[in-house]
Amino acid sequence: MLSIPPLSQLTKAGAADAQIQSNDALRQAPLIGVLALQGDFAEHEEALERVGGRAKQVRHLRDFDAIEALIIPGGETTTINKFDQAHDGKVFSIIGELGRSGMAIYGTCMGSIILASHIQSSNQKCTGLMDITVRRNAYGPQRASFETALDIKELGEQPYPAIFIRAPQIVDAGSGVQILARINDTIAMARQGNLLVTTFHPEITEDSRVHQYFLAMVRSQAMRKAAG
Ligand code: GLN
Repeated sequence: MLSIPPLSQLTKAGAADAQIQSNDALRQAPLIGVLALQGDFAEHEEALERVGGRAKQVRHLRDFDAIEALIIPGGETTTINKFDQAHDGKVFSIIGELGRSGMAIYGTCMGSIILASHIQSSNQKCTGLMDITVRRNAYGPQRASFETALDIKELGEQPYPAIFIRAPQIVDAGSGVQILARINDTIAMARQGNLLVTTFHPEITEDSRVHQYFLAMVRSQAMRKAAG
């Protein structure tokens, strides 16, 4: 949080400086939309704020307008599909356009299914943004939820405590996809340019490194945009 004294306590010049500083600080913290239909959106917001991002809940189509990046949390694909149908397919098409325009988008668990280009044995809708194939509910009901330490070199030497909840598996990825973490013989975290996916839920751990990594992606996309 910014702590700036009330303007009445400042000289005119000081007030102007404080305003400039405040604008700079706000400019440095990109506004990241978090799709807030279901799931752990509040935890994602908290995690983003912990690492210095600003979060905005996306609940209506108009909320996509002001954001500089997007997180699609976990949940049930059937729910987001209903939301999309209620808006004549605009939810998937807006996410698709934003992703193709270079916006940084991070999909957790269900979010990774939304960003995929193929869902195995399913005709459910996806945006096709990322060259990955996913298998829904791949661990089955008997192992619906578990935690395991993943080796994620990009996040440092310390293993990452990854929590999987009725998770999908990324079973295939094109050559343009950078594989950041594996679990058994499948992919648990991957990146393709401005797009990031994890099949696990970093928002419900204390470890903020995945959100930190995403924020760095958001910042570098913003710099790329500014540079033209
Ligand atoms: N099982 C969900 C689906 O396939 C995804 C699970 C999650 O996001 N936690 O829609």
